[in-house]
Amino acid sequence: MGKITIAIDGYSSTGKSTIAKQLAKALGYIYVDTGAMYRAVTLFAMRNGFIGDDRKDVIGLVDSLERIELSFTYNDTLGFSEMYLNGVNVEKEIRTLEVSRFVSPVAEIEAVRLKLVAMQQIMGEKKGIVMDGRDIGTVVFPNAELKIFMNASPEKRASRRYKELLDRGEEVAYDDVLKNVQQRDDIDSSREFSPLRKAEDAIEFDNSDMGLEEQFERMYNFALRVIEKQ
Ligand code: C5P
Repeated sequence: MGKITIAIDGYSSTGKSTIAKQLAKALGYIYVDTGAMYRAVTLFAMRNGFIGDDRKDVIGLVDSLERIELSFTYNDTLGFSEMYLNGVNVEKEIRTLEVSRFVSPVAEIEAVRLKLVAMQQIMGEKKGIVMDGRDIGTVVFPNAELKIFMNASPEKRASRRYKELLDRGEEVAYDDVLKNVQQRDDIDSSREFSPLRKAEDAIEFDNSDMGLEEQFERMYNFALRVIEKQ
């Protein structure tokens, strides 16, 4: 049976990465979290003063893109790959609400997208990959054999993200998390370069009222059906 490419796109906090990780593990595929890559570039931009509450220095960031080296290293204990920025593990730093506040304005910069999309296409050259993000089925792998577009109500998504942040020990208010989820969706959907939208041939998947087990079961079956035809 041939290997396929699985593209999982959708709104913020729809549980894309949870399901993508499980799917990759069950199929023996590589999993790539492209959101982590945009988050790492954002962390770099914040640390170097290119983005903040009252500033967005696009030229400064674009001129510094070659100083940004991103890589994933598999963590055996955790069972997934962690994000490294210039050789340093930034997995924890990129998941804060602070980075979430600035990631969409950074992700709409064309040069940032071009750099990351090129890296993602190389990672997927050999197929056997599950990649999640916003533009995977539309721009990164328009020929992916299986495309899923995930959605859930904003409140459901915000409460999932809220719980996740609390579990990580971050002190956040639910309303701020809800606002962030909605703002990111607005920017991600309306940006000029590769906006978030469902690819025509993607399967729409609303998991507002679905547990993890049922989601995995359905996705796994979608994948098997496609793989059997290869
Ligand atoms: O998936 P996650 O919520 O971690 O993504 C963080 C942000 O990165 C998104 O809100 C979006 O602005 C950006 N992103 C993107 N394209 C992708 C993945 C993420 O623009 N393929």
